Amino acid sequence: MSDVLHELFQHTYRELRPRAEMPGFRVSFYPFANINNTIRLREGAILVRLSDLLEAAPESVLHAIAHILLAKLYRKPIEDQHAVRYRKYVASHDISKKAHLIRQIRGRKKIGASKGHVYDLEVLFENLNTRFFYGLLARPLMTWSAHHSKQSLGHYDPAHNAIVVSRVFDRHTVPLYAIEYLVYHEMLHLKHPVKLRGSRRCVHSREFQAEEKLFPELQKALAYLKIM
Ligand SMILES: [Zn+2]
Repeated sequence: MSDVLHELFQHTYRELRPRAEMPGFRVSFYPFANINNTIRLREGAILVRLSDLLEAAPESVLHAIAHILLAKLYRKPIEDQHAVRYRKYVASHDISKKAHLIRQIRGRKKIGASKGHVYDLEVLFENLNTRFFYGLLARPLMTWSAHHSKQSLGHYDPAHNAIVVSRVFDRHTVPLYAIEYLVYHEMLHLKHPVKLRGSRRCVHSREFQAEEKLFPELQKALAYLKIM
């Protein structure tokens, strides 16, 4: 870990917790398949993994992500200026291009357009990303399934880093909250990866379920999916 990165996290920690004891830090860059950043507290030390896509980021952006991660860890409000600075950087041309290239190298999949007749999956993703994830999730491939399947409403395919949603939801009669819930659920799979053996699995950890409950129209959406 570089001294600069170490000092940056110590400095940011001090801003958030002026009087608390300074913990140890282990911060490293990690080649996630998308722009992902994780933070954990283990035996009094803080372990941070930053997407290697941020390796060339300016210090102000690293300060922003340090603030966001530490604020989340200690359940403090995330300051707007940091959220905005980080989101802008991730959305900037360079990063999305680099992430796109990495996706191409790490996996290819035949993709359909994200834009359906009624809903655009990329637009839904970005909207949810801003509302629930501080724009922290990098967008995977967003695609409608080839068939009008009711068996598989949606799934996240980690091998190809793709969220696939059944075309049955691309209709005017489908309420926004229902398709938003489906995409949100798959975004949680993106955020809480599962170790895979063989084909894809749908595993909902405790953290996953707790976070799913943050979706305001969860009950309405589940009820709708049951009767559709
Ligand atoms: Zn699931």
